[in-house]
Amino acid sequence: TNEEAAAKAAAATADTEGPTIFDKIIAKEIPSSIVYEDDKVLAFRDINPQAPVHVLVIPKVRDGLTGLSKAEPRHVEILGQLLCAVKVVAEKEGLANGYRVVINNGPEGCQSVYHLHLHVLGGRQMKWPAG
Ligand code: 5GP
Repeated sequence: TNEEAAAKAAAATADTEGPTIFDKIIAKEIPSSIVYEDDKVLAFRDINPQAPVHVLVIPKVRDGLTGLSKAEPRHVEILGQLLCAVKVVAEKEGLANGYRVVINNGPEGCQSVYHLHLHVLGGRQMKWPAG
């Protein structure tokens, strides 16, 4: 229910950093185009897509994971679940020819939302190195 989702989002902010827009997406207070969801993970389309497919995969509870640089041993399970969700998203989106997974971390990594998220980009030829 929305109440449960809001409670989970509140739990997500019970860490040292402030809430982000993703809390409202998790709570479904603002709409998003959800591609995949389970009890721990939400995947939804990026509002400003950088490729024909651009999906963000996030933990429903942040638990201090404002970014990858905050990863601790307690996060090992959710980190694995996020990667496994990426695989499911890629299959659902028909990215059989490949795709890119990106985690922007911190200012020099161009991170703008401080709630860990994996970008899944596909549907076109990627370039390397990334900009
Ligand atoms: P970052 O820059 O932190 O790696 O990625 C944050 C991403 O969140 C950006 O690609 C941005 O377009 C996306 N984003 C920011 N606000 C919203 C929103 O309200 N809805 C959705 N679907 N995506 C958002």
